[in-house]
Amino acid sequence: MGISMKRRDFLKTAALASGAALVSESVSQANGLLAQTKGIVKPVVVSSGNGLKATAKAMEMIQQGSDALDAVIAGVNIVEEDPNDRSVGFGGLPNEEGVVELDSSVMHGPSGRGGAVACIRNIKNPSKVAKLVMERTDHVLLVGKGALKFAKAHGFKEEDLLTDEARQIWLRWKENLSKSDDWLPPHDINAKDIGEDLKPFVRHYGTINCDAVDANGNLSGVTTTSGLAFKIPGRVGDSPILGAGLYVDNDVGAAGSTGRGEANLLSCSSVMVVEYMRQGKSPTEACLTACKRIASQTKEARLLADNGRPTFQVIFYAVNKRGEYGSAAIWSGARFAVNTGEKESRLEESAYLHKRERR
Ligand code: ASP
Repeated sequence: MGISMKRRDFLKTAALASGAALVSESVSQANGLLAQTKGIVKPVVVSSGNGLKATAKAMEMIQQGSDALDAVIAGVNIVEEDPNDRSVGFGGLPNEEGVVELDSSVMHGPSGRGGAVACIRNIKNPSKVAKLVMERTDHVLLVGKGALKFAKAHGFKEEDLLTDEARQIWLRWKENLSKSDDWLPPHDINAKDIGEDLKPFVRHYGTINCDAVDANGNLSGVTTTSGLAFKIPGRVGDSPILGAGLYVDNDVGAAGSTGRGEANLLSCSSVMVVEYMRQGKSPTEACLTACKRIASQTKEARLLADNGRPTFQVIFYAVNKRGEYGSAAIWSGARFAVNTGEKESRLEESAYLHKRERR
């Protein structure tokens, strides 16, 4: 015991010493970068298309001097609390059992830290919990009951996140899912063929990713979601996985995603977007290259159309250290929100790999 205690103490001291060395090295690097970029970057906030209010809020806070991570989290909190956004937080569509399960991650460029929660129930603002995981634990990712206990230890209150509207959408999905189960949608006494796939409800994606660069060239990002609608309980998407649904490198840029999380989990594309930007690609080119990577990595026939193109959508959003921004999607029609310092945010078209045929 005595020996192992000593060994532990030694390891701790050594870790602290090397940690201190790392911190001072990264601080001096960061100071160098700040000196290079201070005052010459025009702050920019980008997000998925559901982030008009979020980007405006984040920009307002950045202009008032807030840290970019605090700003983007305050921005997405608006969407997490909006009962009419069916893809995030309160009012998000539930899992197959009718329970809302949320995923979120945050990454703070200047400190190089990140935090995340996955599959957390009953907490409206998972992005705030993800930030606390980053700041108040030695971990990066907490899931399920552990994440909920941690949130409650920090004073978060449990709330029922399933709105009546979301419950009714779930019920319609459940009642129409299969002709051979015991759930029946409203039907006529003479109806024979009850229970059809309701296409728009079969797979409903949606999330908010929000990334920002401030006037000092410091970057941060957040992704928060109720994930894939009607998922198997316990399913975790790309949103809380650093490298997949979000990645920030303060020397280069920030990137995040929405869309089919499974495809992005297999390609870890947000970190790739950052790496493509490091190689010199613009944010839009980097996002488009990530879309191509996903398309070429998808081999399962069930996910491909006859012409070999993916049948699903993934969208990336990115901003670089110089304040340039962009977005690209596998399929045309996606839009993203951006705020470059105005009071109002605007929507812009995402670049795309394939044009969706109008039917
Ligand atoms: N990427 C999210 C997930 O797979 C969902 C989405 O963005 O639509 O959970």
